Amino acid sequence: MDIKPIIDTLNTGLFIDGQWRSAEGGKSIEVHNPATGETITTVADGSAADAEAAIRAAGEAQADWAATAPRERAEILRRAFELLTERADDIAAVMTAEMGKPFAESKGEVAYGAEFFRWFSEEAVRFDGEYAQSADGKTRVMVSREPVGPCILITPWNFPLAMGTRKIGPAIAAGCTMVFKPAKLTPLTSFMLVDALIDAGLPAGVLNVVTSDSARRVVTPWMESGIARKVTFTGSTEVGVNLLKQAADSVMKTSMELGGNAPFVVCDDADIDKAVAGAVQAKMRNGGEACTSANRLFVHSSVAEEFSTKLADRLGSMRVGNGLDDGTEVGPLVDQDALDKVSSLVDDAVAKGAKVLTGGKRIEGKGFFFDPTVITDVPADCEIRTTEIFGPVAPIVTFDTDDEAIALANETEFGLASYLFSENLERALGLADRLEAGMVGLNTGLVSNPGAPFGGVKMSGLGREGGKVGIEEFLEIKYIATPRS
Ligand code: NAP
Repeated sequence: MDIKPIIDTLNTGLFIDGQWRSAEGGKSIEVHNPATGETITTVADGSAADAEAAIRAAGEAQADWAATAPRERAEILRRAFELLTERADDIAAVMTAEMGKPFAESKGEVAYGAEFFRWFSEEAVRFDGEYAQSADGKTRVMVSREPVGPCILITPWNFPLAMGTRKIGPAIAAGCTMVFKPAKLTPLTSFMLVDALIDAGLPAGVLNVVTSDSARRVVTPWMESGIARKVTFTGSTEVGVNLLKQAADSVMKTSMELGGNAPFVVCDDADIDKAVAGAVQAKMRNGGEACTSANRLFVHSSVAEEFSTKLADRLGSMRVGNGLDDGTEVGPLVDQDALDKVSSLVDDAVAKGAKVLTGGKRIEGKGFFFDPTVITDVPADCEIRTTEIFGPVAPIVTFDTDDEAIALANETEFGLASYLFSENLERALGLADRLEAGMVGLNTGLVSNPGAPFGGVKMSGLGREGGKVGIEEFLEIKYIATPRS
């Protein structure tokens, strides 16, 4: 698939106050294809001064934007949903080229990401307030919801469209203006997202986008601006913790979607074929580069051999290659660092006694490819048991009792997604209650859903995105008291 004609039509500058412009000094950064190592194009390398211009524009646009009718905001989102859907093939091709996931998965992400715009177009006209009289009958208590104000949006490279729409959708619905910094590895998908919003009629200043070689150079002026009232971040726990510390200085509202270390528990009464299909989905979606990815598979010892053999057969037969080629099921990892990290986690486990059922090594040659891998008998002191793998590797550990399974699953500082397979509903719900996680996939390997509250507990984050509560993150409560006569 030739993506050059699409790339040639893209705006790749900074988008500030309704205008595309170059970065200060005309600086740019290269965007690479992880399947080939080739440079796709260059995008603007924003400076601190560019970032300041962006947050000023967001601040100046806030009052007018907050005053627009909810229906107007809803209709912009609805049109943008339709434009993303119409442009799905082009967006997916560009996403695959810059991020690596197979084209079919990129199309799936466009559909998933666009749904956040449709969902929040419907929510924009539905958020309400409260009215009550005080207990002594002397006061009218009126409670309304207002937009928080200008928001800072920071997104990662692994879901370059959906992580943006999951924040932009509710911010638009609530009436907040935004400054947005997409990941430097995958800015092109974000530009296509911005184009859809511009074409849908988003007013100048509401969304301002700055790409940069240095995240800190752009984000710090925003955090210290005194203009932004909220930061919503998706990315690593380490960066999230730093942002929380910075946000404290101005008592800024925060939403944090951070790292995961998802347990995938297979009970002795599970339907093994269903569990294997769920594991393929939970492990191999996005090539394992997902915060929800099954990171540690805990399987009852009585079914471990059957489960491991079937999973290894499935992963071992997946076609690895350039995501733009027909039939590719697993693309490359995003860069050399990601490949080195996955390799070293597997090497460490094998050196400590883990057995490789399939895969286990990087694929030599162009691009950052790692063989889909299943390892068993993974000792407790392996780094892979505590670290987010972010690659196509399934480490399997056995257990004998439910208590043991729960202890293993919860033995992590993270708490984003978790998965549980059992055909006994009562037992499964009891175990789900005991999992320390924001989300539980019960007999399914997929939890992401625009209509559901996505988010984690413990070091996996604060707040929820999507669902009915998603818009609350962008609203402040105001209470007006007036005497009752
Ligand atoms: P990352 O390194 O934390 O980067 C995420 C974003 O933060 C990027 O835009 C990055 O910019 C920016 N950033 C980096 N350093 C920063 C700083 N000092 N101040 C402000 N912003 C900074 O994470 P990643 O490697 O892109 O993404 C993978 C991580 O995201 C994994 O841990 C994964 O679990 C997590 N994730 C979580 C969810 C969720 O919903 N919970 C969803 C997807 C991913 P640059 O691109 O310029 O570095």
